[in-house]
Amino acid sequence: MNVLWEGDVIVAGGGSAGCAAAVATARSGARCLLVESAGYLGGTGAAVLDTFYGFYAPGPTSPRVVGGIGWEVCERLFATGSAFERPNTYGAGTGVTYEPEALKLVWDELTAGVTVLLHARVCGTGDEVETVAGRFAIRAPVLVDATGDAEIAWRAGAAVERPGMRLQPMTTTFRLGGVDLSATSAAELRALMEEAGDAYGLARRDGSVHRTVHDGIVHANLTRVSGLDPTDPLELSRAEREGRRQADAYVRFLREKVPGYGSAVLLGTSIRIGVRESRRLKGRYVLTAEDVLAGRDHPDTIARCGAPIEDHDAGAGTRWEYVRDHGTYGIPYRCLLPAAEAPGLVVAGRSLSATHDAHASARSMGQCMAMGEAAGTAAALAVESAAEPADVDVDVLRGRLRANGAIL
Ligand SMILES: Cc1cc2nc3c(=O)[nH]c(=O)nc-3n(C[C@H](O)[C@H](O)[C@H](O)COP(=O)(O)OP(=O)(O)OC[C@H]3O[C@@H](n4cnc5c(N)ncnc54)[C@H](O)[C@@H]3O)c2cc1C
Repeated sequence: MNVLWEGDVIVAGGGSAGCAAAVATARSGARCLLVESAGYLGGTGAAVLDTFYGFYAPGPTSPRVVGGIGWEVCERLFATGSAFERPNTYGAGTGVTYEPEALKLVWDELTAGVTVLLHARVCGTGDEVETVAGRFAIRAPVLVDATGDAEIAWRAGAAVERPGMRLQPMTTTFRLGGVDLSATSAAELRALMEEAGDAYGLARRDGSVHRTVHDGIVHANLTRVSGLDPTDPLELSRAEREGRRQADAYVRFLREKVPGYGSAVLLGTSIRIGVRESRRLKGRYVLTAEDVLAGRDHPDTIARCGAPIEDHDAGAGTRWEYVRDHGTYGIPYRCLLPAAEAPGLVVAGRSLSATHDAHASARSMGQCMAMGEAAGTAAALAVESAAEPADVDVDVLRGRLRANGAIL
């Protein structure tokens, strides 16, 4: 098989975690290939969403808990008027609402020192890519799996947690133009959803419709596709179609029943359905709900989080559980490392090693970027010392992350 690229670090997946990992790797001086199956960078953050959570912890003082590359992304978006800070309705902490098109460009700029391969899927055991020109080999001693589905870890035979019955639902988001948000409060909207929910077949009676950087344009996170496995190709396909069907029902409900939405126009549904949870790595450490709620720290903390457990699998509502005393907790480097032998592999982003509950707190994009930066920095350190990622000196790793602005 022809070799398309050979270097130090391959990053599979160009979402929040993968982009941050690739930037961190390249800034550490390593040769990095970032492979993304879509035609743009940003992943779920660009395709489905428009608000970063996890940068700020909730509570009266609401400290910022993510710095480094993630915060640099926010600053670049603020600088061009493409983002603003927005208090969260349910108390998940202040969010950073941004224009997804601007986010794609920011990642294009930040990855200038990286070889970026779009429209390509990493396959094999992480050593091949499937492209429009067929299959090629790619070679590097270290691979960061930032696919969100732990796909490369799974392909390479590392232990992963299969999606089970307690799997967070998927969501197709959409944007509407021509809306007067001031005509209906969030509480009034929820009351109307309760009232008309059965008639319109609305799967969820809470959720968020919020303002964007553009006047009159709102982003809606309302649909709920439950009971389908995003790692089953046929079920994922059914989920995409069901998500669009539900989005259409919500649009009809909003136009017909909600003041301020009478002339609303559907600008588009999300490029793909949003997957909250799929395969998770079974790592050297499994983050638990107790770690989260107790605000526990670890000697190898590489990212910090104050977000509540936000579990969408409880019927038509959402379960929120907060870190005690408005605290924050640490995400250990061990949550990114496969438990058993898997040479050269680090995982970052929403497929970190965590229980269902802990995952429901640690999966926000702020934390995914922080985990990505840590994984990319660790990958570069492993290459520098010709070591396995698992053997990287965590004090050196934490020192380098802090020096680059990370908050640990
Ligand atoms: C509906 C919904 C609402 C949410 N709301 C919020 C919110 O408001 N704020 C917030 O902060 N978080 C939110 N989250 C959580 C958050 O968006 C995700 O946890 C986070 O974006 C995951 O980032 P990631 O980098 O791990 O994965 P992703 O952003 O999903 O990136 C993974 C990338 O890998 C690519 N890929 C997959 N397999 C391969 C392969 N084999 N080869 C190459 N590329 C591959 C994919 O195309 C994708 O671009 C929400 C999630 C969902 C689904």
